[in-house]
Amino acid sequence: MAYTFKQTFLPASKYSIKAPYIMVPQYITVHNSANDAPATNEISYMINNNNQVSYHVAIDDKEVIQAIPFNRSAWHCGDGGGSADPNAHKKGNRISIGVEICYSKSGGVRYGVAEENAVQYIAKLLKQYGWDIGRVKKHQDWNGKYCPHRILAEDRWKSFLKRIENAMNDNNDFMEKDDDTMKFTNETTKAAVRDFLKQAVDKKLIDKSHLDKFDAGTLTGGDFEGLKIIIAQRNK
Ligand SMILES: [Zn+2]
Repeated sequence: MAYTFKQTFLPASKYSIKAPYIMVPQYITVHNSANDAPATNEISYMINNNNQVSYHVAIDDKEVIQAIPFNRSAWHCGDGGGSADPNAHKKGNRISIGVEICYSKSGGVRYGVAEENAVQYIAKLLKQYGWDIGRVKKHQDWNGKYCPHRILAEDRWKSFLKRIENAMNDNNDFMEKDDDTMKFTNETTKAAVRDFLKQAVDKKLIDKSHLDKFDAGTLTGGDFEGLKIIIAQRNK
C-alpha cells in the first residue's frame, strides 16, 4: 500500500454524541470532505467538536486514519437515527462505514492520490468482509445530498467503482511506504506491473527512464502512485 494506516480513536466518552449505536456494518459510504484539510486535521476536528457529525475513516494522499470502530454507528449519511434493519429505508447511518476522501474542494494531484488511496483501501475492506462492489454507496444514495461532490461533478462514480473492482482483483500488497522501493510478493504481480509501465512507455505516456528505474529496483511506491495518476490522465 502506498498509504500509512493509522488509528486515532474517538474516546468512548464521546460515543453517546458521535457513535451512539452498536453496528453490524453492511455498506461502505463514500464522501468527499468538501474542504482542503488533510486527514489528520479532519479527524481531530471531528473528535474534538461536540456536533452529531462523524465518520469512521478519513483518507488523504498519505494516510488512512480510522477514528471510529466499525462496530459503532456514525453520523455521516444525513438520514438520522433511522433503523438498523437492512430492509428499512433510512439506514445509512446505522449500517454503513463512512469514508471521507480529503482535499476534494480544490482537487488537483493531492486529491487524485487521496482518491486512489480510497480506491485501494475500500477494495481491501471489501475483501476483508467478503463483500462485492454492491456494498459501496455514495452519500447521495442515502439522503440525496450531492456528495461525494467532486466524483459526481466529474461524472466518475461508475469509473470509481470500476477502479475498486480492479483493485480487488489486483495483488496490490506489493508496496510498503511511499519512500520504499517496491517489493513484490510474487513474480506474477511484478511482471504485471512491469507490463503496465512498458505499455505506458510504448504509448509515450511516460518516459522510459521510469521503466529503467523499475528494472534497476529503485522505483518507489510513491513514484509508482504518481506514475499511475499521470498515465490515467494522459491515457484518454
Ligand atoms: Zn457526504
